[in-house]
Amino acid sequence: MAVALIVAAGRGERLGASGPKAFVVLAGRPLLAWSLEALKAVPAIERIVIAMPPGHPLPPEAGAPEGTVLVPGGATRSHSVRTALAAAGPGHPVIVHDAARPLAPPELFERALAALEHADAAVAAAPVTDTIKEADAHGTVRHTLDRKSLWAIQTPQAFRREALVAALAQPDDILAAATDDAWLVERAGGTVRVVESAPENLKVTTPLDLRVAELLLAERC
Ligand code: C5P
Repeated sequence: MAVALIVAAGRGERLGASGPKAFVVLAGRPLLAWSLEALKAVPAIERIVIAMPPGHPLPPEAGAPEGTVLVPGGATRSHSVRTALAAAGPGHPVIVHDAARPLAPPELFERALAALEHADAAVAAAPVTDTIKEADAHGTVRHTLDRKSLWAIQTPQAFRREALVAALAQPDDILAAATDDAWLVERAGGTVRVVESAPENLKVTTPLDLRVAELLLAERC
């Protein structure tokens, strides 16, 4: 049976909230509650571990299922993942999900788990619709990338457990530079596949994202 790690320890400064982002109220419940709700609907998941903002208790309205393990998050996202995995107990495979993505539907977690048949990691991803250019510090464009092969990487990300353990065993400075865990698997020589995401799986970073998420949730009900 699988274990799920929710990373919720970020401060969420770009949201401008007074407390941790994971506890910001979205459609009447803490942001974190919506990811927990989705995970509770995935039968393959036997245990959930949450990397918490240090010094903050879990609000009961988050609705964490019985047996949920809480750990204080680390200095960076991947350190939070490493701490959560160390506390997870047995279980395979492992799903990592950002609390900042409250709209990921249960079937997306299931498709990521299923895609592990052919890879060490399988990650939710959206085909890029904008044209992507690389610019230098002065704003001068250096390259235009070929959009046909570009994907914007999200969570959930599913991992064969041994691949994630090996990926997270890399040095601290490498972990600190990682913006997702799949990159750590790539660096360690593992295979990563993309799984086309659900269009509503946005990341709540700014007050505008929060508003859009609220509207999408209202539409669901
Ligand atoms: O910083 P970023 O927006 O990429 O964070 C993605 C996710 O990682 C968020 O859900 C955040 O709570 C979590 N995070 C964490 N520990 C950190 C930094 C971020 O759990 N030290």
